[in-house]
Amino acid sequence: MTAIILDGKKLATLSEEFIKKEVSMLVSAGITPTLATILVGHDPASETYVKMKRNTCKRVGMESIAVELPESTTTEELLKAINDLNSDVNVHGILLQHPTPSHIDERKCFDAIDIEKDVDGVTCLGFGNMSMGIDAYGSCTPAGIVRLIEHYELKVEGKHAVVVGRSPILGKPMAMMLLNLNATVTICHSRTKNIDSIIKQADLIVGAVGIPEFIKTEWIKEGAIVIDAGFHPEKCGDIDLSEMDNISSAYTPVPGGVGPMTINTLILHTMKSAKKLINK
Ligand code: NAP
Repeated sequence: MTAIILDGKKLATLSEEFIKKEVSMLVSAGITPTLATILVGHDPASETYVKMKRNTCKRVGMESIAVELPESTTTEELLKAINDLNSDVNVHGILLQHPTPSHIDERKCFDAIDIEKDVDGVTCLGFGNMSMGIDAYGSCTPAGIVRLIEHYELKVEGKHAVVVGRSPILGKPMAMMLLNLNATVTICHSRTKNIDSIIKQADLIVGAVGIPEFIKTEWIKEGAIVIDAGFHPEKCGDIDLSEMDNISSAYTPVPGGVGPMTINTLILHTMKSAKKLINK
C-alpha cells in the first residue's frame, strides 16, 4: 500500500494565495483585516509561535497588533487588555497565546474574548456552537485537520475515529468535529486502559498526546488514516510515522502536515471575521 501524504505545507501555501486575494479586496473596500496577538511573559516557544503568526499576517497583507505583557500581569489586567481589543473596531481577531503564566485564570481570559473575534476558537461559547453545528470558528489545529481531510476528499462518515488526547484546544474539539462529520468517535486520554487495542480498531487516528512517538506502528490498523498533531523539537510527532507509507492509506508528515494548517486556519478565520463587516 502506498499512502497518500496529506501535505499541509502545500495546502497552506495554496490557501495563502486565496487569502491574499481576499485581503486585497477587503483593503480596497477600506477594511484591513487585523489580528491582535497577546503574549504574556517570555516563554521562548510562545514568542516563536506569535512571531510566526504575525509574519504570516504580513505575508498576506493583513495587519497584526502585538500586545506584550509582563510575566507579572494579573488576570484583571489581562481581562482589561482583552476588553480593550474587544471594543476596538479595527481588530477582527484576538489570539491569546497559550499557555499564560500559571497565576492567571486562563479560562476566564479566553472566555472574555468577544465571540465575533474568537478566531482561535478558544471560548466555551465558540466550542459549544461548533459542537452544535452552529457557525463558529473552531479551534485552529483541529479545524486545520478537517480542512486537510476535506481537501484530500477522505471519507470520514461511518468510520471509527480514535482521538488520543482530550485537551480543550485539540483533542476535545477534534472529537466534536469528527462527530459532526458523522464518524463514530472514541476519545482516549491518560486514564484510558488498553489504549493499544482501542487504537488498533481505528479507521482514523488523531495523535494529540504531547509525547514523542507515543503511538506505535504495531497499534495501527492497515489502511487507517493517520493524523499526527504532535510536534517535538526532535522533529517527530506523537505517532511513529516511519512505516506509514506502507501501513496507512493516508497520513500527515511531521513536519509539514498539521503544523502549517494551524496558522493558516487562524489567518483564514481572521480574514473571514473582517469580511463579515462588508455585509453589515
Ligand atoms: P496537552 O494539553 O498536554 O494534552 C495532552 C493530552 O494527551 C491530554 O488529554 C492527556 O490526557 C493525554 N495524554 C497524556 N499522556 C497520555 C497517555 N500516556 N496516554 C493517553 N493519553 C495521554 O497537549 P495539547 O496542547 O493537546 O497538544 C498535544 C500535541 O499536539 C502536542 O504534541 C503539541 O505539541 C501538539 N500541538 C500541535 C499544534 C500544531 O499547530 N501542530 C497545536 C497545538 C498542539 P489527560 O487529559 O488525561 O491528562
